[in-house]
Amino acid sequence: MKKISRIFVFFSVFVGFILCFALSVSAAGVFADADADGVLTSADARIALRASVGLEYLDAARSQNCDFDYDGVVTASDAREILRISVGLGRSDDAGAEGMADAEFVGWTDKYYKIYRISGITFIDGILIANKTYSLPQSFAPGGLLTMCSDAFYTMQAQASAEGMNIYINSGYRSYSSQQSVYDSYVESYGYAYAEAQAARAGYSEHQSGLAIDLTNDTGVFTGSAQARWVAQNCADYGFILRYPEGKTDKTGYNYEAWHIRYVGTRVAQKITASGLCLEEYYGITSVYE
Ligand SMILES: [Zn+2]
Repeated sequence: MKKISRIFVFFSVFVGFILCFALSVSAAGVFADADADGVLTSADARIALRASVGLEYLDAARSQNCDFDYDGVVTASDAREILRISVGLGRSDDAGAEGMADAEFVGWTDKYYKIYRISGITFIDGILIANKTYSLPQSFAPGGLLTMCSDAFYTMQAQASAEGMNIYINSGYRSYSSQQSVYDSYVESYGYAYAEAQAARAGYSEHQSGLAIDLTNDTGVFTGSAQARWVAQNCADYGFILRYPEGKTDKTGYNYEAWHIRYVGTRVAQKITASGLCLEEYYGITSVYE
């Protein structure tokens, strides 16, 4: 009993300390905000913690909002994430800007990852972001696929081939100006609406990053092929994610593309793939033109 009361006192002091702490999370929204007061606080962490040990009932929607590790239930680890966020520490798996020179902190995502900018390029959880919200500067021109991406692809290609699945690069790096040409030719031939639906604007294509690859196979029909299934099942082991999954158009800003993979490294690829979410959902960001 004595031990328990000491733990209780320690816990109370800890909670008190956190309550005194100036809360710095402003991107809060309603995610994980169990008490619906508009900010993520230690009270939310307490509710999640109580829910995780069955002490408090939370309705399905609230439980979902507190499920930070996407395992379908609210656990103590979810409560820990909320507690970290409430004191401005951010997510425990956030690689942040570690080792990145001149990284400028620009804010939080809706899921409390830190957003950094370096020379006009956006990074979240240590990975480069290129979508309709976060564009790449015209000056960013790696000139080809980055080595880490191409190395990972050739390793994956060799394994796929050993399993009877021939996959090839259909399109890799595209420069700002070549993307501009693609977009302009679509506008000229088919009009603005069609161009918007089929091609990224210059600066907004992930292909400019040198980290995205469009795949093809021997038949040239990749969608629905055995090769597409193999890639979907195995690419995370090589550091790739399926960037525009089926049913995620409203999140990614693009229709389903079975062939477009993005190198993010195995650490990120495996956690995003396991979550069943697309990149935008996982990090809590949008993909819409301004
Ligand atoms: Zn592509």
